[in-house]
Amino acid sequence: MTERLVRPWEAVDFDRLVREYVPPPEYFDTAYLASPDEIAAVQLTRVRERARRAATVPFFAERWAAAGVGPDDLRTLDDLARFPTYTVDDIRRSIDAHPPFGDYQGVTPADAVREPVRVFMSGGTTGRSRPTFYTQWDREVGSLLTARALSRQGIRPGDVVLNSWAYGLHNGAFSFDEALHHWLNCVVLTTSTGNVTSTERQVELAIEYGATAVCTTGDYLLRMAEAATALGYDPKVDLKLRALPNIGDPDVLSETFGVEYFRSYGFHEVQWVSVECPAHDGLHIFEDAFVVQIVDPETGAELPDGELGAIVITELYKTGSPQFRYNIMDLSWLYPPGRCECGSWLRRMGPFSGRGDNMVKLRGINLWPEGVGEVACALDGVEPDYFVRVWRDGTRDEMEIAVVSRRDPGGHPALADDLERVLQQRFGVRIHARVVGPGGLDADTELHTSPKPKRFRDERSQDRR
Ligand SMILES: [Zn+2]
Repeated sequence: MTERLVRPWEAVDFDRLVREYVPPPEYFDTAYLASPDEIAAVQLTRVRERARRAATVPFFAERWAAAGVGPDDLRTLDDLARFPTYTVDDIRRSIDAHPPFGDYQGVTPADAVREPVRVFMSGGTTGRSRPTFYTQWDREVGSLLTARALSRQGIRPGDVVLNSWAYGLHNGAFSFDEALHHWLNCVVLTTSTGNVTSTERQVELAIEYGATAVCTTGDYLLRMAEAATALGYDPKVDLKLRALPNIGDPDVLSETFGVEYFRSYGFHEVQWVSVECPAHDGLHIFEDAFVVQIVDPETGAELPDGELGAIVITELYKTGSPQFRYNIMDLSWLYPPGRCECGSWLRRMGPFSGRGDNMVKLRGINLWPEGVGEVACALDGVEPDYFVRVWRDGTRDEMEIAVVSRRDPGGHPALADDLERVLQQRFGVRIHARVVGPGGLDADTELHTSPKPKRFRDERSQDRR
């Protein structure tokens, strides 16, 4: 006899789910305003539960045994620091040793008869894709968290929203889709990227349906604005955008569309982690679902509040594959604890500020490619788009930043000279500059195929013939 299938409504107790993880919009009037004691109590209960679950997953069990810690050692939230962190390299090694899923999953395809299971992947341009398996509960809570961010950004029930992320192996498009569909009662137009539905068609659909937001990169949204202008529309008037859930330059996006921009942070294994409030001074962490810590990217030691370091995430909401002290190597910082002027006690973090594994030592100077890009893009005549390369010339490391300009190509060399001077002044080291026309970097940045544009390539380890 075949095993009886567990149906979605049996797999998830939705009453309990919305009690424990309050959805928007009521979230912002309830859990968002919880007292520090309430927040800490919820976190401790949940982190213990997650530790007990993670201890049954070989990847964590082995690491914790080696470090001499276990779930019973979690008496206060401070004890979390005793548990080892891990990075994407550890995930890669786990997959190599236990192909194809690794030994870090809490569920596998074999569990799909017990309840609906989904898998999404990241990476894979070099080496194996890195899968994460999700239970039905994990999908629902993760989408609900994403919906909190989208709601704060201005998306409202009943809105029509274009989802122009790539519906591919990656979680990106699906997490927006599920958040909008299940938790914000929005009508999603599943356009996917410009390769699937042409940019002109997307513009026409957005106008015909009165779309209030387009889920995509900031860069692609600006491209849509250009296409709208070329079709004879005024992007500020004819596109009825009311929310900017787009990763990009806040000032440029706000100005182009006349809409307030709220920064947010998330990544595919855990979905949305934090979002800015109307005070625009830090991103409030959804602390009923996460503990965020900041560590030194090189040593892994916890850093004081305010210092830039790598984000270490412990999710508190899942039932499947755990992320317990995952050093995601994105850079940010924590604000000191305290009440924000919006009324929330939820800890605040800075916005995404670069990658911790991208640090380049150029003639003794520590450089983050994103930091170089920020300075370059502030120069007059330079568009918010860049790509940094590092290579070895004999015994010297060299860095080049390529930027985009709409100026006449005849003026590109002079602009490159200006940029090199600015970078030399700012960083005290020679950085080569190159200027290209619009679209000239798309192959390097993978703007149209990757959920987050690539900004950096280290060519030093490649065989250069
Ligand atoms: Zn606030």
